[in-house]
Amino acid sequence: MISSFGATHFAKETEHCTVAQDSEPLHIGFDDTDNRLGKCTTHMAFKITEHILKTTNADFIDNPLLIRLNPNIPWKTRGNGAVCLRIRTDRQDQQRIVDFVKHHIETNAATGKGANPGVVFFRGRQIPEALMEFSRFGMFDILHKQIAIKLANKYNIEYFTLGNGRGLIGAIAAIGCVLDGDHTFEAIAYRRPENCGTLRIIDTNKVIEYTKSTFPYTFNNYDYANRRILISPHGPDPVFCGIRGESTEVVVSSLISLKIHEKLEGCMVFRSNQGTNMHLQHEIKLPDARSFTSGHIRCKVSVKPQTIQGGHTLFVVDTEDGVSFPAAVYEPTGLATVASLLTVGDVIEIGCGVRKASSKHPRTFNVEYLMVLELANVFEIRNPVCSHCSKSMKSEGKDKGFQCKRCKQREPPTKQKVQIKLPRKIKPELYVPLPKAHRHLTKPLQRYGLEKKSTDYNKNMSDWFFSDLDSSSKSIITNNNAVFNTK
Ligand code: ATP
Repeated sequence: MISSFGATHFAKETEHCTVAQDSEPLHIGFDDTDNRLGKCTTHMAFKITEHILKTTNADFIDNPLLIRLNPNIPWKTRGNGAVCLRIRTDRQDQQRIVDFVKHHIETNAATGKGANPGVVFFRGRQIPEALMEFSRFGMFDILHKQIAIKLANKYNIEYFTLGNGRGLIGAIAAIGCVLDGDHTFEAIAYRRPENCGTLRIIDTNKVIEYTKSTFPYTFNNYDYANRRILISPHGPDPVFCGIRGESTEVVVSSLISLKIHEKLEGCMVFRSNQGTNMHLQHEIKLPDARSFTSGHIRCKVSVKPQTIQGGHTLFVVDTEDGVSFPAAVYEPTGLATVASLLTVGDVIEIGCGVRKASSKHPRTFNVEYLMVLELANVFEIRNPVCSHCSKSMKSEGKDKGFQCKRCKQREPPTKQKVQIKLPRKIKPELYVPLPKAHRHLTKPLQRYGLEKKSTDYNKNMSDWFFSDLDSSSKSIITNNNAVFNTK
């Protein structure tokens, strides 16, 4: 089966291309090229895109895609990100591009130091449904390399791998992710090699300024509570900063407004599933909650939450069928206090990852968002109030009745204690983690209601690709100093 998006979107985009008639789409996916010591898969995408723009006639039929996969798999380096480039060009160009990509990844990936690259090339106007399904599962499940190889063979996908080749999984999943529903953009600015490892200098006031002026169209820029910039990493990798938002225009203009002093290598805008909760769309059905999977589940609190050392909150939930499962809300999410206000009988929906069992704890839902759907009534049994002065009465002992502390009025043992409905300190609403605890895929509160329903590729490359190549290069803007100090 072929996706309607694959059939219509790519066909539509390719109609506008200026390249030769014998050209066809080439989808390039790659993953697992980096380790924690300084490489970055998105930077490879930037370098490969730069090469394609500079040396070939290829047209891009979509923004470069930055696809985040299941964040709960144990062998990710950081954010489990894979990349896909969708272009259209003639056969000759395609071969040159394939050769370049293979060579580039072979020579630049951190193979042998923790990276296990996988690179795939799929030719065709339509993305087969099987690839899209593989990608959908990649968001929440654990996929196996053997299935990726089978798919590659069945759909004539050219691939090559290095190390243990696990990157093949992410590479195919990236190609299969057509992002025809909700998506966001990220403008990633890259450092020159000589600056990697040095301190990144960003003007905090400028970050706050554009955060305010672009709200709600950029997100995860600044953590007001901790006075921390969220747009730049701290390691030695080539990413200077990344600005996330709802359109190419808003992320690029925000980046420009930073007036970065460091001379940069360039910037590229990715279309992405970041900030969409895509990993939590899957409904978890108990008892089948396998370790390392992600999703959401509607359930009822069945054991009152307890806050343990470190400020984490633990409780137990039951499904409608009466299956119980432990849940944990960790302190850094900022949701632990909220969770501690839940009580037995509350109906909730949680987005979560399934944490593997250890010798100390069973398999547990690791809560990523909490939606309170129905609050249970909580009652307190109290002594009756005095009919004369309305003061709460004191019990005289078992079966001995009550006496008013103030006017000494007595009531017989037949007088009933009263049931008082207590106010709840939690509301039926959605609670999401603090920005500093957001994962790449976490949907920030401000994005609720902004979800997109279709793709919106901006064909004008000069709007989404910036590098310090010379200005005569096809479709590449040489940054003027007002944008980036690239010269
Ligand atoms: P970065 O975010 O810095 O790019 P990373 O966190 O993406 O790094 P990788 O080095 O890409 O980490 O490692 C993730 C590995 O897990 C890749 O080999 C990828 O193919 C594989 N992988 C991704 N999603 C799944 C999944 N759902 N099931 C099994 N393997 C997966």
